[in-house]
Amino acid sequence: MSYADRDQRHIWHPFTQMSDWLKEHPLVIERAEGNTLIDTEGNCYLDGVSSLWVNVHGHDHPKIRRAVHEQLDRLAHSTLLGLASVPSIDAAEKLLEVAPRGLTRVFFSDNGSTAVEIAAKMAFQYWQQHPDRRLQKKTRFVALKSAYHGDTLGAVSLGGVDLFHQIFGPLCFPVYRAENAGCYRCPYGLRYPDCDIHCLESMEGILEHHAEEIAAVVVEPLMQAAAGMLRLPEGWLRRVRGLCDRHEVLLIADEVATGFGRTGRMFACEHEGVTPDLLAVAKGLTGGFLPLAATLATERLFEGFLGPVEAGRQLFHGHTYTGNALGCAATVANLEIFKAEDVLARVRARAARLAQRLEGLRDLAWVGDIRQRGLMVGVELVRDRETREPFDPAERMGHHVCMAIRNRGVILRPLGDVVVLMPPLSVTEAEIDHLVSALEASIREVAAG
Ligand SMILES: *Cc1c(COP(=O)(O)O)cnc(C)c1O
Repeated sequence: MSYADRDQRHIWHPFTQMSDWLKEHPLVIERAEGNTLIDTEGNCYLDGVSSLWVNVHGHDHPKIRRAVHEQLDRLAHSTLLGLASVPSIDAAEKLLEVAPRGLTRVFFSDNGSTAVEIAAKMAFQYWQQHPDRRLQKKTRFVALKSAYHGDTLGAVSLGGVDLFHQIFGPLCFPVYRAENAGCYRCPYGLRYPDCDIHCLESMEGILEHHAEEIAAVVVEPLMQAAAGMLRLPEGWLRRVRGLCDRHEVLLIADEVATGFGRTGRMFACEHEGVTPDLLAVAKGLTGGFLPLAATLATERLFEGFLGPVEAGRQLFHGHTYTGNALGCAATVANLEIFKAEDVLARVRARAARLAQRLEGLRDLAWVGDIRQRGLMVGVELVRDRETREPFDPAERMGHHVCMAIRNRGVILRPLGDVVVLMPPLSVTEAEIDHLVSALEASIREVAAG
């Protein structure tokens, strides 16, 4: 029996309508070289979404491979509950070296959802045990419309993508919802790109009226990724930081998608000189090799949890594989590569090339908008560019374009009708050129029916 048949017999795929999956012939990946994925039949594909936004330096960077091998020879895993471990200490130090200034503490977990959820629990508990009793009323969160922060229930509560999140509403805690800024489909009409004024007012209004009960604002800095690569306007994050300071509200930055060079800086917050009180990282943390995540905190936040053990102020949270040794070894190697190869300078050069090549797509009748930050791009397909009339979701245009591009040797995965381009940071100029010309040909092919 083929791998494809065996997959269809037993595997339940995430975010997938399995009745469609069972009718199609799944592509089965067997190995990878550089930025290329290779299937069981030997076909090669550019990994155009970095294996769901995680891969950073390609799939086989020798430094990460060696670091993981060497770590495996010493220790695969040991717990951080009651014990320390060498690789977790090394990884935390390296991470804080590159993190926004002012973050001093690292809490490890396994994935982006838990990294965000831990940040939310930290913010909540921080105020609960604050010596000023008035501040103990701070129990609620503000998040943006169309926010995506992961799939565990706390992260789902913070999320605002109706398609994913609505059904779980009865299980979730209520959240104040601020307008998402810079949205192509702004509910207030075609005011883009100046609708950000309205959006900031929405955040301002919530904080002015409800600050006494708000623990934290949670945002994806610069780019709301799963929402469909929605760009936040310049200066927005800095102004939200200012609002949080004014109203004694914590700022949680979810850099699970934007972290590790994706936007041309190590963290997106740096573009606006912002240090959040809590920073969630995951996807690119290990270079895309192993599942590891971290929640970074300021010393002030950390100190809010200190006290005699019988006071019960410790953070009651921990995952079995927290601080996994192999993941931490990969993290150290990942961060060393950034320095050794001046990766950020290369990302900025590649991003400029990508932007220039994407200009050519703007002439296509179906391309409504192209939104980019660094090597993070959404190409929004619409039925009519002038009126921004969308396709009927049932037509699955984004899906069809991503299937068509496979025949041209590229793997992409859309968000609805937004085609996402998230190549590894190690993408070459030739690969960028191929990616964009293959995308253009695929859009033309699907448009022609
Ligand atoms: C992917 C993502 C998450 C969730 O991460 P998982 O590792 O899938 O749990 C959270 N926040 C953002 C911004 C993401 O892109």
